[in-house]
Amino acid sequence: MAEAPVLAVRNLRKHFVQRKGFPNPVTVTVRAVDDISFAIRPGEAFGLVGESGCGKSTAARALLRLIEPDAGSVTYRGEDVLAARGGALKLLRRKLQIVFQDPYSSLNPRRTIAQTLVEPMQVHGLARGADALARARALLDEVGLPAAALDRYPHEFSGGQRQRIGIARALAVEPELIIADEPVSALDVSIQAQVLMLLKDLQARRHLAFLFVSHDLGVVRWFCQRVAVMYLGRIVEEGPVEDVLHEPLHPYARVLRDASPVPDPALRAALPRIEGEIPSAANPPAGCHFHPRCPRALPACRESFPATTEPAPGRRVACHLYPAEDRASVR
Ligand code: SF4
Repeated sequence: MAEAPVLAVRNLRKHFVQRKGFPNPVTVTVRAVDDISFAIRPGEAFGLVGESGCGKSTAARALLRLIEPDAGSVTYRGEDVLAARGGALKLLRRKLQIVFQDPYSSLNPRRTIAQTLVEPMQVHGLARGADALARARALLDEVGLPAAALDRYPHEFSGGQRQRIGIARALAVEPELIIADEPVSALDVSIQAQVLMLLKDLQARRHLAFLFVSHDLGVVRWFCQRVAVMYLGRIVEEGPVEDVLHEPLHPYARVLRDASPVPDPALRAALPRIEGEIPSAANPPAGCHFHPRCPRALPACRESFPATTEPAPGRRVACHLYPAEDRASVR
């Protein structure tokens, strides 16, 4: 029997109402996250991928309640995250930590690294005084930084070192799941691999689960076991990462996969291009949101958003090419 998920997200929705335009502003609703569902198992790295603006970072923040979602449910080991208050919410926030894209703006420039690491331990009653400092030293060692870093400030470190400090801060409260929101995309390419190796090592050593938010399919393929592909606020395909990237079912997942960097220029020139710009989430196309760009669009695609079906075990896709009764269409 499959292990119960550590985190289950059901029909999560976050819309933003904005006033846009000058001199006659109008009210628009940006459907940033629109009914997305997925589950993450203990110790699993689950990728959430898509182009910029697809809603993946908003989803990550909404499930942690850094922004309050409009609808849906989020459960951590059966506990209702969205209904939690007081001590229950504090405990959930300890178990679910986030590592941000920009390691500099996520660290308080006026606090030493010792203060940065010790404070969360104190807030959650895990350690204080000399014990907390000893733990902070051990955390720095775990992320590959010297103990001398404790007395220094964030501006004294490089981008990669600051991201290591951000990771140490997340680990300080002994989480079970880390939401990594584009954790290496602000770093130099040469540093990215080192930080990814560190995260991979921590995942194995601490049996951590990850929600890994990224636009980079190559990184997701290397880091994650399963992946969900988002397009304009919706999950359009989900499954084991090798299956989804080797043989994508959804036309958007296929184009995204084919558009990811390929070292050989001749091969790159031969690959299909994704046509057109990603539409605005404030005014998504009717029916399947991908239909204006889809090379395989059917008449039905302009009419209705496709239901999510499971055309093969462990794989889910929202596309009219895969109606519920047509399982034979998947090789
Ligand atoms: Fe293309 Fe239609 Fe599938 Fe959307 S539902 S991805 S338009 S085939």
